[in-house]
Amino acid sequence: MSLEAETKRPSWDEYFVGLVSAVAARATCDRGRSGCLIVRDRRIICTGYVGAPPGFAHCDEAGHLWRNVLEDSGAIRAHCVRTIHAEQNALAQAARYGLALEGTTVYCSMEPCTTCAMLLVSVGVARVVALRRYHAAEPTRTLLREAGIPLEIVFDEEASYPHQATEPARAPSPPTNQRP
Ligand SMILES: [Zn+2]
Ligand SMILES: [Zn+2]
Repeated sequence: MSLEAETKRPSWDEYFVGLVSAVAARATCDRGRSGCLIVRDRRIICTGYVGAPPGFAHCDEAGHLWRNVLEDSGAIRAHCVRTIHAEQNALAQAARYGLALEGTTVYCSMEPCTTCAMLLVSVGVARVVALRRYHAAEPTRTLLREAGIPLEIVFDEEASYPHQATEPARAPSPPTNQRP
């Protein structure tokens, strides 16, 4: 038996998909610890995870920063707005160092939100690979389809996390800057 057979190497997709969780582990908001890698020609261009802008307090330290958001369904829910999404942080890192993202593949923890999807279209990504589904990703699926960008799901299940934004906002005002 050859060494190669004993220690099966991951494919490139398996390799990058495996790294998404390592990047996501650095996320600082437990409302959705996600991570993102942007890759071209089998090389990582940039990474990002959910976190506040550099120099600002993170949710882990200062608690969440709540805002009520009116959702399409008519429900008003409390969302944490202290952090930048993983995809946006990856794009910011690329911008900071002047890295073009045309033709890249994005690997991310879950299907991107609508805003992130629009940004990914704008910077010219060619393919999106998400580990899991996001419960409100229908507009993203439509957007990427219309843009001609393939969206591949690794595990066909909805992403969930301990403090997912599912509870209604609390009246008259949601808690601010408190640890959960
Ligand atoms: Zn937070
Ligand atoms: Zn997003």
